[in-house]
Amino acid sequence: MDGYFNLYSFCHPVKGCKRAVVCDLLRNIIQPIPLVLYDFLEKGQGKSAIDQQKLTSEEKNAIDTYISFLYHHEFGYITQLPIPDNPDNSYPEFQEKDTITNAIIDFSSDSTHSLEQIVPQLEDLGCKALEIRYYYQLPFRAFEHALKITTASSLEKVECYIEASDEFSLDKLISLKNSHPKLSKITLSNASDNVIYKHNDLIVINTTEQIRNETKCGVSGELYCIADSQLFWESKHFNNCLYKKIAIDKDGYIRNCPSMKECFGHITNTPLCSVIEKPSFKKYWNITKDEIDDCSVCELRYVCQDCRAYTIETSNPYSKPLKCRYNPKE
Ligand code: SF4
Ligand code: SF4
Repeated sequence: MDGYFNLYSFCHPVKGCKRAVVCDLLRNIIQPIPLVLYDFLEKGQGKSAIDQQKLTSEEKNAIDTYISFLYHHEFGYITQLPIPDNPDNSYPEFQEKDTITNAIIDFSSDSTHSLEQIVPQLEDLGCKALEIRYYYQLPFRAFEHALKITTASSLEKVECYIEASDEFSLDKLISLKNSHPKLSKITLSNASDNVIYKHNDLIVINTTEQIRNETKCGVSGELYCIADSQLFWESKHFNNCLYKKIAIDKDGYIRNCPSMKECFGHITNTPLCSVIEKPSFKKYWNITKDEIDDCSVCELRYVCQDCRAYTIETSNPYSKPLKCRYNPKE
């Protein structure tokens, strides 16, 4: 193949200490590549450039084979002149003007807080995405009522966790989606099988896992990575889980997420707008994957959700997520 190979602007190479990947943010593909190829892709160089380097013939052949693979699988294109600095590969400014963009509200069967009380406050803060996690078998009518509140709000996306029951059939959930289009994902825990359904813009996940409290959250690793544009760019600049997040745990306490130790008051007597003014509330917002132990040398760091609640060293804010079993150094 003659000429210079360049990745498309939506394909981004990421280098780890042992491996590298190309993240295709348009087709949501994470493609492993050898480390030796990374520099050429990153700089927009191609076969002609490779020939000039002091590489072994084996390395040159490996690069040639991978470039051919990437070309034929539409990760890039060939030009006859080199493109020294591809402007599309420059980092876009990541900006969210709203104060809070996403929230979690947890409920147990004993909870005393309500969506009626919290959703208007989230709207005032500019929140767009809400995750509601019910750690018990919620009656279907109560679920419909919850969705009515979110549908009437300025929220744009709603995801829910509920314990499975006969009432939550796939047909009923699909029909619910028609009247509540903001509902994007439902996870049914303690289900009889492990299966994922996709119907238009609704994802229904059945899992046999029992989710009775917040401690099941925070699982990360190579199996959970997603080549998503928002996640990719947010990961480069901010903490990709806690940035602009607020949460109310099942007991009504306000936190960065329901699993974090720090508490910023109770929803009955603390307005959410007063919490976000506290500098300590934003303590984790700017911790990026590039600063976290092990993640900083992991090729998956921009496509992997972080967790600051469950970490290997509890007193170290930059410690690796505890529930990740992937070792980028191996
Ligand atoms: S910090 Fe961890 S436990 Fe908290 S929401 Fe994020 S992934 Fe879940
Ligand atoms: S080491 Fe970090 S970035 Fe890599 S898979 Fe684990 S949690 Fe994700």
